[in-house]
Amino acid sequence: MPKFYVYITDRLHDSGILGFGHERVFSEIYDAESKDEVKKLVLEDFDYMPKVREKMTAKVPETERFITSIHELNDYWHNIWLTTHMCKECRNQYTKLEKSKFRTGGSTEFCSAECQKQFNMRFEVASVDSYNSATVYMITHRPTGKRYIGVTTRWIMQRWWEHIKAKSGSPFHQLVLASSITDFTFEILEVFKPSEHDPYAREAFYISKYNAVELGLNSVSGHMQE
Ligand SMILES: [Zn+2]
Repeated sequence: MPKFYVYITDRLHDSGILGFGHERVFSEIYDAESKDEVKKLVLEDFDYMPKVREKMTAKVPETERFITSIHELNDYWHNIWLTTHMCKECRNQYTKLEKSKFRTGGSTEFCSAECQKQFNMRFEVASVDSYNSATVYMITHRPTGKRYIGVTTRWIMQRWWEHIKAKSGSPFHQLVLASSITDFTFEILEVFKPSEHDPYAREAFYISKYNAVELGLNSVSGHMQE
């Protein structure tokens, strides 16, 4: 049976910055034999009969608040809406249809705007001039003696907290998830001004010094390792 993608927009939505715009308030995929059958199904789901848009937006009067759009899904759009993606941040799986349904926001690579924000926060390239200090830290898993070395120009405990909460699937984060917090020690190896030393070069120096890739929990010998 053919599939149809149906979405309803509220054209009175106040988008804030740009004033009134169109907000998608509902989206769903219907199985039906024809567009007319889809219209019936939409009517059953909603008491209000929204104007059904037939390609030309101009046909919808300005007074109409809700606009229903019905598109038959060809293979291309079927893939767009129903392909399963894995969130780059939380590793949960989702489809674009689900994102659209629950209006979670964020780009296609993330399940939500919140995850995208988290991801960008962790990976943002620090502007070295705007921070006073960089810290190279070492986290040691006491039962095994395995070490993880990292660098941050932000508040150090925030970085540790992010590691505790991370679900990246990296060996380090897997071990953190499987362990008790008291299994780890957290040490500061060096604090310096980013304007005087390259933070990533200092991080690489300590990763190599402690052989933290081969014997420890670092995945690579430099930055962007998670
Ligand atoms: Zn996510």
